[in-house]
Amino acid sequence: MDTIAENLRHIEKNILSSCRKAGRNPDEVTLIAVSKTKPVSSLMEAYRCGCRHFGENKVQELVSKYEQLPKDIKWHMIGHLQRNKVKYVVDKAYLIHGVDSLKLAEEISKESMKRNITAHILIEVNMAKEETKFGVPEAEAEALVKEISLLPSIQIEGLMIIAPYVENPEKNRQYFVGLRQLSVDIKEKNIDNVNMNALSMGMTGDYTVAVEEGATYVRVGTGIFGERHYETV
Ligand SMILES: *Cc1c(COP(=O)(O)O)cnc(C)c1O
Repeated sequence: MDTIAENLRHIEKNILSSCRKAGRNPDEVTLIAVSKTKPVSSLMEAYRCGCRHFGENKVQELVSKYEQLPKDIKWHMIGHLQRNKVKYVVDKAYLIHGVDSLKLAEEISKESMKRNITAHILIEVNMAKEETKFGVPEAEAEALVKEISLLPSIQIEGLMIIAPYVENPEKNRQYFVGLRQLSVDIKEKNIDNVNMNALSMGMTGDYTVAVEEGATYVRVGTGIFGERHYETV
């Protein structure tokens, strides 16, 4: 089995070649090491290789790792955030991906205001119209952005997508293209207090295609840390 260091080198090389192919500056792309279910020792291994962006999808796990690991790590909350858990994570997350409702944004705004901070968020869009997925429908995204832009202590930085699981990553290219186009369309509206600079798209199976289509954050778990085992041991 390859080590975390080897996996990281491999992924960074692939990101570079996707950037070259698309004529992009590699500095625009940040690799988020998705470390859910993985022990602190594995995160430290990635940290020693230079990783400073980590992604978790459970509040409790993010908080626990936040407390144990170096303070220069930027934590990304990538999972669906429940409103009653916002208070635990709002001051620890560098970026909250996956905001898809006004109610959730209101809670984030309220908890940020209490702490005198600004929360940075991405709007999750359900481009593939999957019934089981979270995310705002594409047609409703702009309206949601406008509503959230009026709230205090919360700043929209861009859009996020969880693409369908596919064997052939080319199948997801259409969704990455669509998400980028949507962000360009929203940007052109010049809504106050809204940035559309961040595009969080691409996972282990399809990050090279996502980078070709403009991803600024790719979220890679299995490709760095190996398969996840969910059973408790
Ligand atoms: C788990 C997860 C990932 C990483 O998935 P891999 O296929 O292991 O790279 C990325 N994004 C989100 C939202 C996730 O929950």
